[in-house]
Amino acid sequence: MATIARSAVRAVAAASARPIHRTFTASTVARSSVTGLNSLNTLTEEEAMMKEAAARFAREKVKPLVMKMDEEEKMDPSIIKGLFEQGFMGIEVPEEYGGSGSSFTSAIAVIEELAKIDPSVSVACDVQNTLVNTLFRTHGTPEIKEKYLTALATESVGCFCLSEAGSGSDAFSLKLRAEKQGDYYVLNGSKMWITNSGEADIFLVFANVDPSKGYRGITAFIVDKSMGVEVAKKESKLGIRASSTCVLNFDNVKVPAKNILGEVGKGYKYSIEILNEGRIGIAAQMIGLAQGAFDIAVPYTFDRKQFGQAIGEFQGMQHQYAQVAVEIEAARLLTYNAARLKEEGKPFIREAAMAKLYSSQVAEKAASKAIEWMGGVGFTRETGVEKFYRDAKIGAIYEGTSNIQLQTIAKMIQSQYKK
Ligand SMILES: Cc1cc2nc3c(=O)[nH]c(=O)nc-3n(C[C@H](O)[C@H](O)[C@H](O)COP(=O)(O)OP(=O)(O)OC[C@H]3O[C@@H](n4cnc5c(N)ncnc54)[C@H](O)[C@@H]3O)c2cc1C
Repeated sequence: MATIARSAVRAVAAASARPIHRTFTASTVARSSVTGLNSLNTLTEEEAMMKEAAARFAREKVKPLVMKMDEEEKMDPSIIKGLFEQGFMGIEVPEEYGGSGSSFTSAIAVIEELAKIDPSVSVACDVQNTLVNTLFRTHGTPEIKEKYLTALATESVGCFCLSEAGSGSDAFSLKLRAEKQGDYYVLNGSKMWITNSGEADIFLVFANVDPSKGYRGITAFIVDKSMGVEVAKKESKLGIRASSTCVLNFDNVKVPAKNILGEVGKGYKYSIEILNEGRIGIAAQMIGLAQGAFDIAVPYTFDRKQFGQAIGEFQGMQHQYAQVAVEIEAARLLTYNAARLKEEGKPFIREAAMAKLYSSQVAEKAASKAIEWMGGVGFTRETGVEKFYRDAKIGAIYEGTSNIQLQTIAKMIQSQYKK
């Protein structure tokens, strides 16, 4: 039986005062008894329990630290430890490697729940699961999986190192060089804006082994921090400030040839494929953020009175929060649809790009409106909505900017309609 994160399940079961009877498996799919079809809000029992466990963790463990972590621009170590303990850092990793053996949709639900409280914690979990772990799971040899996937699911933070100062949207023009010397490759160059790199022990680094081949020289290397990765400047940012974003320097870092993930020269393919699905994770982070802002601001409008009545009762306000609620729901449906398509092995690239693009727009709007609905209080640091507003901006930038998402969508429209 594929299990859910043990501690997460225990926590949910304890809270509901029910014993843990895991009579379902990861492949159990909830089905409507009438039509055999699901609404997009339908989760399997396992996914629902993961979601509930993430919501509880976010409320009880993350929430008390959110503002402090934002001010200090640092993730509290207890949060990373807790994410591992709950099984949230190895959601799709098979049990044999210490993971939770759960589904992609579980990962999406966990990312969304964490973002409702703190998008910084959410992205730490997102990168680990949807980028790093999946690449190890998909392309790792049994030896690599035994060593690295086990570590990633249980204790080691990983990061995905593609971008460089001169290569962001144009990622395949990267310059980090890997030169073969016997049984080793020697890495020289730098990476930029690498999420989780402040806490990471395992670095998945894209480097070019043969620039004469262009992007066909790009290869994925597994680099342990102890091999000599220098975590240089930590960026000070507008939002998601508790999430570490650092420059990395590689100065003659010797990496054993057996630490190549997959095949030499296939790094470009792996990175593009993983970013296509990773975008669904960012979409989930953005809908969580939007919902988090909404959940703070709307109740406030029923407490706050002006002109002798609750401000949320004015029609001018009602229409605004109704509109935002529709947009959050639409973004959520796009996101969960893309997740299910991916799980079903169906084409999902267009849908994932749409989900990421739209969710980031909705997040920005919802957070902005939440501030307005709360007036002066919303503009202060007291309630957390201004933080959501700052955090929202990253949704239009990482894992492909909004223009890049539009380009992907446009390409697919062209291939469908252009004669
Ligand atoms: C907080 C944070 C965390 C990050 N985490 C990671 C990480 O973990 N790993 C990693 O590898 N990278 C990471 N990145 C890098 C991120 O993926 C890049 O910043 C992003 O891809 C954009 O690249 P750029 O910053 O170079 O912008 P540019 O590519 O220079 O883009 C600037 C502007 O030009 C537009 N533009 C560029 N090309 C085109 C085009 N062809 N058509 C139309 N418009 C275009 C863009 O849309 C954008 O508006 C992170 C970045 C940030 C800020």
